Amino acid sequence: TLAGRAALVTGSTSGIGLAIALMMAGAGARVMLNGFGRPEEIAAARAKVGAAMGGGEAPYSAADMAKPDEVRAMVADCARTLGACDILVNNAGIQFVSPVEDFPPEKWDAIIAVNMSSNFHAIRAALPGMRARNWGRIVNIASAHGLVASPFKIAYVAAKHGVVGLTKVVALEVARTPITCNAICPGFVRTPLAEAQVKPLAEKHGVSEERALTDYLLEKQPSKRWIEPEEVASLATWLCGPGSGGVNGAALSVDGGWLAA
Ligand code: NAD
Repeated sequence: TLAGRAALVTGSTSGIGLAIALMMAGAGARVMLNGFGRPEEIAAARAKVGAAMGGGEAPYSAADMAKPDEVRAMVADCARTLGACDILVNNAGIQFVSPVEDFPPEKWDAIIAVNMSSNFHAIRAALPGMRARNWGRIVNIASAHGLVASPFKIAYVAAKHGVVGLTKVVALEVARTPITCNAICPGFVRTPLAEAQVKPLAEKHGVSEERALTDYLLEKQPSKRWIEPEEVASLATWLCGPGSGGVNGAALSVDGGWLAA
C-alpha cells in the first residue's frame, strides 16, 4: 500500500507513465501528473487517475522536461499541492532513430535533456524534501537500452546508460537513509513511443507490420510479445511499497528475457 504517500510521475499523460500513475493512485498514493498531449487527453488522464484516487481531478504540471527551471518548478509545485514529493518517478522520454552520420544534433540535445538530464534536475530538487521527511523513493524508467545497445539509437542509448549511471550515484549517496533510488529497464512496451517504430520497419524491410514486429522490432526480445505498461507499473509500485527498502541502486529488467541472451 502507498497510503499517505505523495507521488510525482513525469510523462504520465500516456503509456508507461499513465499506467504507473493509475496503479500508484489505486494503491492509495496521491499522484501529480505531468506530460504533453491534446487538452482532452490530459483531461482524460487527470479524470482517470483522479477516479483511482477516490474522485476529482488529479493535479497536473505542464512542465517541459527539456527545461531545467520548469523541472525544478514542477517538483516545488508537487510539494505545494500534495504537501510533499515522497515518490519521484522519472519516466518522460522521447525517441529518434537514425544512423549516427545523419542524426540531427538538435535531436541529440533534446533526447539527452528529456531522457537523462531531467532526471538529475528532478532528483536534485526532490531529495532535500525526502531527507527532511526521512523517507523517499526514486524510480527512474531507463530501458534495456540503458544496459545494451542497438544501432541507430545513439542518443537514446547514451541517455539511458546515463540514467542507469546516475541512479547508482544517487543510491550510494542515500544508502544510509530510508530513501532508495532504482532504475527499471523495460524491453519493448506496448505504447505509442514503441508502436511508432513498427511501420517504418515494415516499410524498410518490405514485410507486414506483424512480421516487422516479431522479426525486427522484437528481434532481441525472446518472449516475442509486447511488455504491457501494467507489467512495468507493477514493479514501479512495488519499489515504492513496504518491503522494498533493501533494493537500492539496481537496474531491474522487465524485458521478456532480452538481457539474458
Ligand atoms: P509515450 O510516448 O507513450 O509517453 C511518453 C510520455 O512522456 C508522454 O506523457 C509525453 O507527453 C511525455 N513527454 C515527452 N516529452 C516530454 C517533455 N519534454 N516534458 C514532459 N513530458 C514529456 O512513451 P512510453 O513508451 O510510455 O515511454 C515512457 C518511458 O519509458 C520513456 O522514458 C521511454 O524511454 C521508456 N521506455 C519505453 C519503452 C517502450 O518500448 N515503450 C521501452 C523502454 C523504456
